[in-house]
Amino acid sequence: MLGARYVGRFAPSPTGHLHAGSLVAALASWLDARAHQGQWLVRIEDVDTPRCVAGADQHILQQLLACGMQSDSAPTWQSQRTHLYEAALAQLIDKGWVYPCGCSRKEIEDAYVSQGHDLTRHTAAIYPGTCRDGLHGKPARAWRLHVQAVIDALQLPQKVEWHDRRMGHQQQDVAKEVGDFVLKRADGLWAYQLAVVVDDADQGVTHIVRGEDLHDNTARQIVLQKALGLPTPTYLHAPLVLGENHEKLSKQNGAQALDLQDPLTELNKAARVLGLASSKSSSVVDALHGWVQAWSSQYSFQ
Ligand code: GLU
Repeated sequence: MLGARYVGRFAPSPTGHLHAGSLVAALASWLDARAHQGQWLVRIEDVDTPRCVAGADQHILQQLLACGMQSDSAPTWQSQRTHLYEAALAQLIDKGWVYPCGCSRKEIEDAYVSQGHDLTRHTAAIYPGTCRDGLHGKPARAWRLHVQAVIDALQLPQKVEWHDRRMGHQQQDVAKEVGDFVLKRADGLWAYQLAVVVDDADQGVTHIVRGEDLHDNTARQIVLQKALGLPTPTYLHAPLVLGENHEKLSKQNGAQALDLQDPLTELNKAARVLGLASSKSSSVVDALHGWVQAWSSQYSFQ
């Protein structure tokens, strides 16, 4: 495998600074790229503009730099790549695999509950397909992928199956368990699913290493890759740092700002989450080098 083409990436959303959790994802993706002698790219995922914080992108890049990680080519910003998302949506419209949807979130949730489901903080209502056959006089709000249409047209297995390099065999019936997901939102913004799939392919990403919180998006992204005729990268979802309430660490549940006066301490913490031993080295560069060696024996190379 060594020497074969490898392109990896770290794709932070600039909704705040890097914290201990996002540093784990950054470090994992960087180590995997280095262990494969591959390229590592940084892509700022700033399509969800209402959630973006001014200056957070530059701050994240500086934090990465302080931790010895720099994009192998100039970082990219999704907000400058909307023409690519437009073209992908046009391709899917052409195929007849997307449709405009006029339902509000409330309507979707009401329909879901009336089908006998419970809605909790951790479940999203599965779209009942109301607008598949037309808008019923409502104005178009979002664009959705008709998942079953893609599966049928391309004769894909009903369940998406994939291998995660850490978590093993995975499967999901996207049509049933997720439903027709949004590619362009009611507020006109591009959905994460579309932007990430288009960008990973456009940038030639072969290996995705990211936090386990994103694991549940993978099957959707694979369906979308197939619909757009794009290759599927390999996946490794890295362990999460949990906050005080045992949920994914976030600013809301106790994530501290990284102490960039002492990047080695921060990196050592991140390395331990990844199952790597703390480094005895006193330099960031040497510590990273040691972990690259250790990484190769920790996670299977595929
Ligand atoms: N932008 C996403 C996030 O910060 C990561 C996307 C990805 O790695 O696929 O959660």
